[in-house]
Amino acid sequence: MEITGGCLCRAARYRINAAPIVTRVCWCRLCQYIGAGSATVNTCFASDALVVSGELRDYRSIADSGNVMHRRFCPTCGTHVFSAADARPHRIFVRSGTLDDREIVKPAVTIWSSQAPSWACVDGRIPCLEGQAPPAG
Ligand SMILES: [Zn+2]
Ligand SMILES: [Zn+2]
Repeated sequence: MEITGGCLCRAARYRINAAPIVTRVCWCRLCQYIGAGSATVNTCFASDALVVSGELRDYRSIADSGNVMHRRFCPTCGTHVFSAADARPHRIFVRSGTLDDREIVKPAVTIWSSQAPSWACVDGRIPCLEGQAPPAG
């Protein structure tokens, strides 16, 4: 299967020749900046199945766990497209809103609910974890 997507201005595009592994809703504090007050929705893929065209800028940070994290975004329109951890180079997380067809994924779990504001809308139909989920393979 080929999955396609990209940023709002279409300067950055990607193709993925692999099935999604898992989709999670993340309420960590950092995601609330990216999500403009909401959670982010992220779909995990095998990173070797990903081909990217166009320029992305990388915001690098150190997570509380000590992991070096990369958050890649389009420098023209600002859309966040990917996140990745140096400790897990075989996995790439795609911001699910950048998928051309968002119906191919479905969140399985909410994570980092402990960092969500009191007014957050957390989906009661799926499991909810206060912190990080176990690694997806
Ligand atoms: Zn763009
Ligand atoms: Zn997060």
